[in-house]
Amino acid sequence: MQKSFIALSALIGAVVAGTGFQASAEGVGYKDTPKLPDQPWLVHDSDRPVPHIVTPAATFSHGAPAPSDATVLFDGTDLSKWRTDNGSARWKLESGYMEVVKDAGSIRTKDEFGDFQLHLEFATPAKVDGESQHRGNSGVILYGRFEVQVLDSYDNRTYADGQCGAMYGQFSPLANAAKKPGEWQSYEIIFEAPRWDAAGKLTKKANVTVIHNGVLLHHKKEFIGEVQHREVAKYGKPFPPHGPIVLQEHGNPTRYRNIWIRELGEYDKP
Ligand code: MG
Repeated sequence: MQKSFIALSALIGAVVAGTGFQASAEGVGYKDTPKLPDQPWLVHDSDRPVPHIVTPAATFSHGAPAPSDATVLFDGTDLSKWRTDNGSARWKLESGYMEVVKDAGSIRTKDEFGDFQLHLEFATPAKVDGESQHRGNSGVILYGRFEVQVLDSYDNRTYADGQCGAMYGQFSPLANAAKKPGEWQSYEIIFEAPRWDAAGKLTKKANVTVIHNGVLLHHKKEFIGEVQHREVAKYGKPFPPHGPIVLQEHGNPTRYRNIWIRELGEYDKP
């Protein structure tokens, strides 16, 4: 892998002189990024092993109806629960789904959430266009700060911590359960928000559980910090107790449908 990586780097003339590292072909990975804490890998490390491929069943939770206490964020009919940072959501609304519009910006929920259970379905573009991070890239950004990657990871090599279902830039998924381009896929995401004490000290990191097409990708895995590209994530100042769900616009016409969310309760507090 290293050999072909070097050859490819030389081919594109991207060798960074004097550092001992080489910038990789765009999107395949990096060797000039900082080291991740408590892991042997660099951020977006091109040498990080990619997860094994699991072929999911034809359906898992496709079309799962929302339970009675859920907030339906998108039922395929309108974008009324969504906006951009500074205006209305301008993604394409089709019968039963919405589609990312290039340069229309990411969209976020008007409502904000703390700890939650989220169901959503997505489809990467049926027409394969681009490679690595440029193929079907979008993302579900939890709490407005922690990205679970959406990408066409069907026969599409990219860096392991950036493939579909990755805790972007932090942890690769336990498996590659991606479906083919254009096929509907499901995410069940359970998220616990970070906590700070009154003095502003972080007392609990955010964590996530992700099931992709019926396959577990992460189980109560802690985020290193707020999502970053080519940098080590960190928490910084205390966040507000709630945050939006953000769907990322990354220039590719990825589709979404059937999105609902439930806030998590507490034991013995009915
Ligand atoms: Mg993304």
